[in-house]
Amino acid sequence: MYYIGIDVGGTHIKAGLVSAEGEILKRDEVPTGARRPAEEIAATITALAKSLMADAQEEIGSIGIGLPGAVSDKTGEVIYTPNVNFERFPLRGVVEGECGIPVRLGNDADCAALGEYSALSEKVDNMILVTLGTGIGGGLILGGKLYTGSNGIAGEIGHSMVCLGDRPCSCGRRGCWETYGSVTALIGDTRRFAEAHPESALRKSLGENFENLSGKSAFALAKKGDAEAQKIVDRWISYVAEGVTDLINILQPSLLLIGGGVSREGEFLLAPLRKRVEEKMYKSGVSVPQIRGAAMGNDAGLIGAAFLGKD
Ligand SMILES: [Zn+2]
Repeated sequence: MYYIGIDVGGTHIKAGLVSAEGEILKRDEVPTGARRPAEEIAATITALAKSLMADAQEEIGSIGIGLPGAVSDKTGEVIYTPNVNFERFPLRGVVEGECGIPVRLGNDADCAALGEYSALSEKVDNMILVTLGTGIGGGLILGGKLYTGSNGIAGEIGHSMVCLGDRPCSCGRRGCWETYGSVTALIGDTRRFAEAHPESALRKSLGENFENLSGKSAFALAKKGDAEAQKIVDRWISYVAEGVTDLINILQPSLLLIGGGVSREGEFLLAPLRKRVEEKMYKSGVSVPQIRGAAMGNDAGLIGAAFLGKD
């Protein structure tokens, strides 16, 4: 049995024919054209799926579609995707009608969690993926299943509160975890420090017009022993740790993965994160969840989408 995964992003739609073992046998990618009418984007998705179906040597179990926003796999609707032109759109019905096989919908962060989960070599019942990027996304695998809540949109971990009444968040509240612990927040911290300290090594490393400013800037200098950059990194990791500790206190997974490009900092990020979480988590004498970097990178979302309908 094969599965088709489709990963809808703001710029590209990726599609893959995936084996039951999680191997991508064939892939395709086209521009999203995200501002086109929803019906046209749906037609692109259908065309990608049909092309992979035509190539498959085995029966296709289902088509899974990962989307960057709120979806309901119960009603088959894309509720809202801020960067792709879907609002209350019955995507499942449209694609199922054209392709004639079951279609499942998922949020892209949930799909990434499912993809990472499917690739684990050890048996794990409860796993959380925390993706640090523009915001903080995540997916919850509880009891071996993707947990999406009663309405399909559970797992918005970036919008938990770490600092009441402070930095404004896109969700309308102030002080959400992602306003402190995302890579966007790290970039903001780096920039504010550099602006306040024009003679610092960090400021000089960023280029005249901040053209070199990224989530890597402070990490790169900290690795060279720069104490100020290390302070920025430490403070940011402490914010990441607060949210991770909340998740662990509430859900006690046995494994928590850190994803997103910044996870390539490896132990420079993970070792201090583990230390802080172990200091802060609710003490009960039980085992501490494993915290490690996500392993799959960009394909996790595609494979996870394919596996939405596997069980
Ligand atoms: Zn928020």
